[in-house]
Amino acid sequence: MAPTDSVVASFRARYRAAIAPGYSGYRHALWVAGVGLAAIVFSASRLHAVQPLEWLMLLAALLVGNVGEYTIHRRLGHRKWAPARLFYQRHTGDHHSFFTDTQMLWDTPRDWRVVLFPGWLIVVVLTVVAAPGAWLLSAVASSNAAWLWVLGVAATYLLYEMLHFSYHLPRQHWLHRHIPGLWRLRHLHVLHHARENMTEINFNLTFPLTDWLLGTLRWSPESPEDQTGSQTPEAAHTAPPATISASSRASGPPPRAGC
Ligand SMILES: [Zn+2]
Ligand SMILES: [Zn+2]
Repeated sequence: MAPTDSVVASFRARYRAAIAPGYSGYRHALWVAGVGLAAIVFSASRLHAVQPLEWLMLLAALLVGNVGEYTIHRRLGHRKWAPARLFYQRHTGDHHSFFTDTQMLWDTPRDWRVVLFPGWLIVVVLTVVAAPGAWLLSAVASSNAAWLWVLGVAATYLLYEMLHFSYHLPRQHWLHRHIPGLWRLRHLHVLHHARENMTEINFNLTFPLTDWLLGTLRWSPESPEDQTGSQTPEAAHTAPPATISASSRASGPPPRAGC
């Protein structure tokens, strides 16, 4: 069962109260976009006379990223495992309590705190995933392969953040009206945000390739509210109540916040 809208509103109020006063959603988004774009541009600038086979490394990085986002989301974001409890807390505990399938929209840029990954994570990913892979590829393959790996890792990360951010915009936002297929990806994420679905389906946030391969891709028609875009940020707090799960994190202890 889903948490009631009043329970979500209550969670949101407690979450917002715990956000550091100095937090800026714009600064957060600019940091992630800046670091990601810098990595992409710098990697691209290091490429020289790329051979057809070397381009496969970019495809490989995107495929690894697709499997990675699925696995981390499903196995760590929705399953308690002590070494990754912070990620579980932030994803199942905070993100899925702040946003449900009927309450998908953020209200102000301060809410981006619970939409975007923490600002330090992109640095960790570039350091722990991109850099060692590039070092290995430069030793066993080529410099181009190494920089295409870095480019692919950074692109996957940025694509994830941008697409996920767009899923928490209104269905009728111009992005969803003008970018072909984007509303379909958004709807897959809406279905994932239903509390009864979140541990079962639609774990890919970019393209649902791994979901399709592993049989966890599920589609069902949009609700009339989603189709008409009647769920506005204002309406998100005034929609009719549903019911609540006994295990709902939304009714749990106050969240931790601060980026
Ligand atoms: Zn989400
Ligand atoms: Zn999730």
